[in-house]
Amino acid sequence: MSTNELPLLPTTVIGSHAIPSWFWTAIESIDKDEYGPTDITETFNDAVTIAIQDQEQTGIDIISDGEMQRWYFVQKFYSRMKGLVNDPPLRKIGLYGYDTPPRYHNTSRIEVPNGLGIVEEFSAAKTKTNKPIKATCPGPLTLTMHIRPHKPYNNRLDLANDFAEVINLELKNLVKAGADYIQLDEPSFAVIPGELDDWVNLFNKATNGVNAKIALHICFGNLTSRPRGKRTYEWMFPKVLETNSDQLVLEYANREMSEINLWKKFNITRELGAGVIDIKSFYIETPEDVAERIDAILQYCDPEKLYINPDCGFFQLPRWVTVKKLEAMVKGTKIVRQKLLGNS
Ligand SMILES: [Zn+2]
Repeated sequence: MSTNELPLLPTTVIGSHAIPSWFWTAIESIDKDEYGPTDITETFNDAVTIAIQDQEQTGIDIISDGEMQRWYFVQKFYSRMKGLVNDPPLRKIGLYGYDTPPRYHNTSRIEVPNGLGIVEEFSAAKTKTNKPIKATCPGPLTLTMHIRPHKPYNNRLDLANDFAEVINLELKNLVKAGADYIQLDEPSFAVIPGELDDWVNLFNKATNGVNAKIALHICFGNLTSRPRGKRTYEWMFPKVLETNSDQLVLEYANREMSEINLWKKFNITRELGAGVIDIKSFYIETPEDVAERIDAILQYCDPEKLYINPDCGFFQLPRWVTVKKLEAMVKGTKIVRQKLLGNS
């Protein structure tokens, strides 16, 4: 099935799935060098299978591979880069936070000789499901997030420009592998200070000539279920509409649907992937909560242009909560879908 045969209000996810309990234990063992390469491959493979099964069983229309082969969103990509060295974390004591993960600086121009590995992730997921799959890739700014640029880069923007080329090649290869719906993740739009003009140019460079539905996910950060950026989108409009994106994927649920009115204020005709599940809360939405949120969105957005998703990825929530939230999202969407189809 391709993304051409979707129901009204297709449900999808942002990317990451919850990490199963056994997978935490396995990762610890892998870190201690207790697993061989075959064990590691099998472990990651099983994790992807479970992520896909959870999404299929809860009835998600367009699934992801759960990003199970990545670790903490972007960390895996740094291991595929040449020219990087590890720096100690800024803070090692106390609660895990945005100042805790490993950091890097470059010693030369950074090379990614074998690509980011997203094509391999996508191809593996395709062998496990007949459902349409959304492929996800960090945006060029997001990829720079944990790197302090040194020469030959003058600044972060220089480095992000290099990464835009790396991403562009990865996305074109994803399309060749069969991807028709690709989402770039740029929490950095809201997190890293800079000029919106530059960010738009970077996005357009990264997606130039990529023949697929292109979504741009902008969120405020999700590490330890905490946001990092100021939680408003309004300052990005209308400039962000200059991105060559078919769809914007935004957080609404954890902000009590605030700023959904921007869709009318700026006469936006682009597709919206609207966050109706709060992934930063243990509160499990009821289907009626979800339907209510979708109804609120439909006051501003055409149903034909609306996709239904959680606010962000699930990697910071337990699996049982994640599954219940996905179930509620699907059931709530069905309530609205039936109402809309009944009225037509
Ligand atoms: Zn996000």
